[in-house]
Amino acid sequence: MKTIQTGDQNLIKQINKSVVFKLIEEKGPVSRAHISKSTGLNKATVSTMVAELINDSFVYEITSDQSSGGRKPVMLYFNNHAGYTIGIDLGVNYILGVLTDLKGNIIGEINRDLHDIEFDYVIENLTSVIELLLKKAPESTYGVVGISIGVPGNVDKEDTILFAPNLKWKQVDLKQVMEDRFHIPTTIENEANAGSHGERLYGAGKNVPNLIYVSIGVGIGTGIIINHNLYTGASGISGEMGHFTIEANGKKCSCGSRGCWELYASESALFIDAKTHDLLNDENEIDLGYLISEAQMGNTDVLQMLNKLGENIGIGLTNIINIFNPEIIVIGNRIAQFENWIANPIDHVLEERLSTYHNENTEIRFSKLGKRSSAIGAATFSTSKFLSDKRLYIG
Ligand SMILES: [Zn+2]
Repeated sequence: MKTIQTGDQNLIKQINKSVVFKLIEEKGPVSRAHISKSTGLNKATVSTMVAELINDSFVYEITSDQSSGGRKPVMLYFNNHAGYTIGIDLGVNYILGVLTDLKGNIIGEINRDLHDIEFDYVIENLTSVIELLLKKAPESTYGVVGISIGVPGNVDKEDTILFAPNLKWKQVDLKQVMEDRFHIPTTIENEANAGSHGERLYGAGKNVPNLIYVSIGVGIGTGIIINHNLYTGASGISGEMGHFTIEANGKKCSCGSRGCWELYASESALFIDAKTHDLLNDENEIDLGYLISEAQMGNTDVLQMLNKLGENIGIGLTNIINIFNPEIIVIGNRIAQFENWIANPIDHVLEERLSTYHNENTEIRFSKLGKRSSAIGAATFSTSKFLSDKRLYIG
């Protein structure tokens, strides 16, 4: 009986501590009196919890210069530099890595192009990007607390990559490979799920309860947020909307099906068009920056390509809106750079094909975090995990 009581008291203490921490993290700078007033916890409990949080380096205090008479108030701040996390967006043809503090602010960033999808080659580059980011981490109490990698494929609930069609990887335990190398807790996530998380916390989807993040790069992935929570399906692999069919007998896809949306509405579709118009670079690769400058110069081939791309994106979005009725859809990843040229064709298709109700109630936005949505989103997964392990997030 005694043990149970102790256990309960301990749990209550942890819950109180997490409530105090959450308030400082979200509303800081705040005073002890303010915390006591808004949480209903008595002043002695607040003081004990704050003392522990200061001792653990998660909170620091500053005496304010301004006072309305009497004692100068002591304000409490969340110490977002108590530790750092690394977030990686592993694309099919690039790696984008960021080092962030515990509030998602970018401290360092590395961009690298990939010219092959062979596993060892990708791992070698991934490892070197992480090494460079680790070197950028300032001295802190907890150091780099986690590495999180967003990948373009199905990831199960044990973090195994089941299938990444555009990388041609099957059953890869990337988490183990990275943990063996760096001895830092590592999380593997689908890149679109990571992106939706990033945009929901810090970007175009801030405080929106129901949103679909559509990541358009070489393929298309989606992250589904329902009632503020990421929906990942029974085995963790929902959101493969890039592979719903938009052409019954269309082109063959790497997933095994035919006529998948991503074959018509992604970088892969642009690549095929660019090839027919002789717009590839010397390495036979597509250069998105070059296509943007050609579009700005009014190159009619490029403008037509982008118009068609926008229309094809719109066709897929129509299906998504009919299924989910989201408040907003956020378009992210590399194709979002073409917003100026694809936004109108997307709108035209939605106007033409959606019921008035659906069309009026769904807003299409472009990613606010730009190409960094997935990397920042991935980093925040590690931060949340770290703070949960420290019992500061209880839910
Ligand atoms: Zn497919």
